[in-house]
Amino acid sequence: MLATAALTAVPGGAFAQSQRDIHLEAATRNTGGDKFLKDWTRDRYCMYVDNPALLAEIRTQRAPVPMTQIFDDVWFVGFQNVGQFILKNSTGFALVDTLNNTADVDAYTVPALQSLGIGPQSPLVGAYITHGHGDHDGGASRLRSLYGPGFPIYLGSGDAAGKTYAPIQLDSSNLGYQSFTLGGRPLTVLASPGHTPGTMSAIVPVRDNGIEHKLLMVGGTAIPMNIAASRGYLSAVERMYQAAKDFNAVGTLHPHGIIDGGNQHMADINARGSRTANPYIIGNEKLLRTVAIMRQCGAAQVAQVDATAQDPVWRVTSIAFDAESPSPSRIAARVQSDWGPVANQEVTFSVGNSGASCTARTNADGLAACGSRLSVSPRDEVKAVFAGSSNAEYVDLPSVRSALVSSLACDVDSNGSVNRNDISAIMAGIGKPFRAGSALDADGDGKVTASDARMCTQRCSKEQCAL
Ligand SMILES: [Zn+2]
Repeated sequence: MLATAALTAVPGGAFAQSQRDIHLEAATRNTGGDKFLKDWTRDRYCMYVDNPALLAEIRTQRAPVPMTQIFDDVWFVGFQNVGQFILKNSTGFALVDTLNNTADVDAYTVPALQSLGIGPQSPLVGAYITHGHGDHDGGASRLRSLYGPGFPIYLGSGDAAGKTYAPIQLDSSNLGYQSFTLGGRPLTVLASPGHTPGTMSAIVPVRDNGIEHKLLMVGGTAIPMNIAASRGYLSAVERMYQAAKDFNAVGTLHPHGIIDGGNQHMADINARGSRTANPYIIGNEKLLRTVAIMRQCGAAQVAQVDATAQDPVWRVTSIAFDAESPSPSRIAARVQSDWGPVANQEVTFSVGNSGASCTARTNADGLAACGSRLSVSPRDEVKAVFAGSSNAEYVDLPSVRSALVSSLACDVDSNGSVNRNDISAIMAGIGKPFRAGSALDADGDGKVTASDARMCTQRCSKEQCAL
């Protein structure tokens, strides 16, 4: 049925791709050919739309996952298809989610907390529940009866009705950032209605080999097949993208490690017996790509349940400095997406040390060049920013790249300074063919002239160039 629904007749008897399929294909393209992003992010976040068999299979995978330390101060315990995170804070332990029920708490949570040293000096000081489904809050009442009424259990207000474990409600109708402290750890939560009305995602600080990072906790993923919930989820994922950017988050946490790939990361950590090169830390750029894929899966679902939906496709872009750049004679970068070059868009180059900047437009090949209009020195860092662009069909997402200036204009012999030999070489090169981006063309205007010789003579020290 889906296969035929996916094809829409257009005049002339040809078939246009449906909105649903356009979004699914974009989700795949946005993987940029990365195998993990394809096998986990794309295939699992989109399975609700295009792979019910995979979804059914995943739901049966209930084997326990041994308690695994994933950061200096975070452990996972539970099952392949759902689990909980244990956070160790200065004041004690806090939980993200509570497993399915009393039996799980007794069999997994309590032994895990005991092995980590829970006691009067290190009590349970809080719990945050990503959303009010039983596989996340089913153990909450048991924890209350075991560890006392004193510790706060946070839950989105949209899911709080009828809960007997006295949750403290996080306002899930507030779509902005909300901060609270979970037993000593500052969290920023982001209402993500869709999976449930009260689903709350979060930015969670963690320490990895002593260094603090921020991760995006995805609060809920499977979306009810109706327009309102699907729209809510789509909007939530778009806000998650912004949050990942605003907080410079570098990876995901998900109570369903079978969806975001956490299970794979843990298998990797356990096989190696080490958390060096922690697989959870993928970097901000790859996380943004991850969330852009999730967004495309969400847009595909909206299109599937709403035949009138017309949402633009999100396209991940990347920007890279072009050959011989950044250098004093050439500042140029190329912007592209998996759809091709990003043409006729502004790129702004700025110099870290001086704050100077220059803006250029990309040509048909996606190349933007400022030549030597931007004055840079050898140890400057140059940042190239494509701020993004959009129309009714596409959103080309922003991209950014920084690089150190590698070569010095005028320093033809690359000995690290400008001296008489360099000036002589430039004089000899006037009017002759030369390699693009060469130090000979100090002003980057594409030819070697007397003005390059003059500019370089000014950069040459008195001792070096005294005649
Ligand atoms: Zn759920």
